[in-house]
Amino acid sequence: MIEKVIVLGSGSAGLLAALTLKRKIPKLEVEIVRDPDLGVIGVGEGTTPFFPHHLFDYLGIKRKRFYQMAEPTWKLGIRFLWGTRGAFDYSFSQQLDKQFAGLKMPNGFFCDDEFTDVDQPAALMRAGKAFTRLANQAPDIQGWHAFHIENHKLVETLETEARESRVKITDGKMAGAERGEAGIAAIHLADGRRLEADLFVDSSGFASELLGKALEEPFEDFGKTLFCDRAVVGGWQRGDQESIMAYTTAETMDSGWCWKIEHEHFINRGYVYCSDMISDEQAFEEFRRKNPKVPDAPRIVRFRSGFYRRSWVGNVVAIGNSAGFVEPLEATALMMVCGACRTLVDMLQQALLDPTPSCRDLFNEIKLKEWRMIRDFLGLHYQLNNADDTPFWRRCREETDLSELQGLLEYYTENGPSGFCRNRIPGTTNDFGLEGFLVMLVGNQTPYRKRYQAPAQELRVWNERRSLHANLARKGIDVKEALAFVRHPGWQWHGDS
Ligand SMILES: Cc1cc2nc3c(=O)[nH]c(=O)nc-3n(C[C@H](O)[C@H](O)[C@H](O)COP(=O)(O)OP(=O)(O)OC[C@H]3O[C@@H](n4cnc5c(N)ncnc54)[C@H](O)[C@@H]3O)c2cc1C
Repeated sequence: MIEKVIVLGSGSAGLLAALTLKRKIPKLEVEIVRDPDLGVIGVGEGTTPFFPHHLFDYLGIKRKRFYQMAEPTWKLGIRFLWGTRGAFDYSFSQQLDKQFAGLKMPNGFFCDDEFTDVDQPAALMRAGKAFTRLANQAPDIQGWHAFHIENHKLVETLETEARESRVKITDGKMAGAERGEAGIAAIHLADGRRLEADLFVDSSGFASELLGKALEEPFEDFGKTLFCDRAVVGGWQRGDQESIMAYTTAETMDSGWCWKIEHEHFINRGYVYCSDMISDEQAFEEFRRKNPKVPDAPRIVRFRSGFYRRSWVGNVVAIGNSAGFVEPLEATALMMVCGACRTLVDMLQQALLDPTPSCRDLFNEIKLKEWRMIRDFLGLHYQLNNADDTPFWRRCREETDLSELQGLLEYYTENGPSGFCRNRIPGTTNDFGLEGFLVMLVGNQTPYRKRYQAPAQELRVWNERRSLHANLARKGIDVKEALAFVRHPGWQWHGDS
C-alpha cells in the first residue's frame, strides 16, 4: 500500500509528477528531493496542447495566476521552413484529417500545390496573428493552442504550486540507493540522511539515477532513426521590430535543424545537429551565421534519443528525461511527462494504491508504444525532406529506419492523403495523431499515385473556405495585443472559478 512517495528531482518533470500525485491523491505524502547545485536542464520551452490542458483542466491550476507567474506566450503550431515547398504550417487543429462539406475528397487531396489557410489556426499563423476577435474585440482563445514558456519561469511557477499543495521539498544530493524487496528501499543523501518511501519517482533528468543507474534498466537507443545528438543553444532580447509569432519555427540546417521559440521578451534559438556529421565549432559557426545576435559563448547540450524499455520497475517509476527523451523536433517531452503522470495517477487510484505487476506491465507497454510512435513520427520529418542536399540530409533520406511505417508509406503512395491512413499508424494516439503524419506527407509533397482533378464547383467551395479563414485571420489579434487583454485586471478566464 503506497502512502509515501519520494520524487527525485525538481525540474519540470519532477514538479509536474509531485503536483499531479498530490493534487489527485491528496492523502499521499509527497516529498521532492533535489540537488540545488545541479540545478535543472534549462531547456524545454515548447509544448503541445496537452500541456495547458493538463495544467488547467486536469490539475485545476488557475489560468490567471499561471499567466502572471510563468508568462507563457501562445503556440498555435510549428512553421516548418522545410522541404520542397520552402515552408508549410502545422497547426494544432485539423487541416488534413478532415473533409470540408461539399467536397468529395478529404482536404489533403486539394493541397498538392497550395497548402495554406486550410484551418483557422494555420491562417492565423500565416497572418502573424494569434486569435480571431470576438465581437467586443477581445481574443477568441480556443483550446487548440500550446505554450512557449521559459524553463526557469515554468519551474518556479510549478514549485510555488507544489509547495502550496503541501508537497515537501528537501534539498540534498542523492549519493546512493539501497536495494530492497520492492526495488528501492531507501535513498542515501550525501550528508548521510537516509530517506525511505513506498514509491520512488525518478525525475533526475538524463542522469536517471534510480531507473538507469541503480536498477540498470536497459535503454533502447533510437540512433537508427534519429541521428541528431547535440544542440547549440542561444538567444537574444527581443527588439522593438521583432514581432512575437504564435508558433515555433523549425528550419533545416546543413546537419540538422534550428528552432526559434518566441518568448515575450526573448527569442530562443537552438541548432539540433548530428555530431557524426559536423563538429561543435562548425555547428556554432553555422548557427551564428544564421543568428548573428546570439552571444559568443555557445551552450552545447548533449542528448541521446531513446528510452528505457520499462519506466516502471518495482517501486520506481521514471518520469521525464530520466525515462527517455526523443530529440526536440515537435517538442514532445512535456507532453510525455503529463501523459505519464496521468497514467500513473489513474493506475494508482484504480489499484487502490496497491499496484499489481500487470498494472506495471501495462504502463510500460503503453509508454513503449508512445515512445516508438514519436520516434517514427520524427524520423518521417527527416526522411521526407527532399530539398536539402548535404551529406546529413542525404543520409536521412537513405538511412532513416522507418520500418514500422512501411505500411503507412505504401498506403499513402498508392492512395494519397486519405483518412484510411490512420489504420496504418502503429502505436497509440497523442497530440499528433493522423493529422501530424498527413501534414508531414502533404507538407513535404510526398508523391502519391493519382492526383485528384477537382471539378470547378469543388474548387470554389475549397477556396471559399480558405478565404474565410484568411479574412478572419487578417482582422485577428496578435500576441502582444492578446497578452494585454489577458493581463487586464477585468479579464475573466473561462474555466477559472
Ligand atoms: C536540446 C533540448 C531541447 C529541448 N526542448 C524541449 C521542448 O521544446 N519541449 C519539451 O517539452 N521538452 C524539451 N526538452 C526536454 C526537456 O529537457 C524536458 O521537457 C524538461 O525540462 C524535463 O526535464 P527533467 O525534469 O526531466 O530534467 P531536469 O530539468 O534535468 O531536472 C533534473 C532534476 O533532478 C535533480 N537531480 C539529478 N541528479 C540528482 C541527484 N543525484 N540528487 C538529487 N537531485 C538530483 C536535479 O537537481 C534536477 O532538479 C528539450 C531537451 C533538450 C536536450
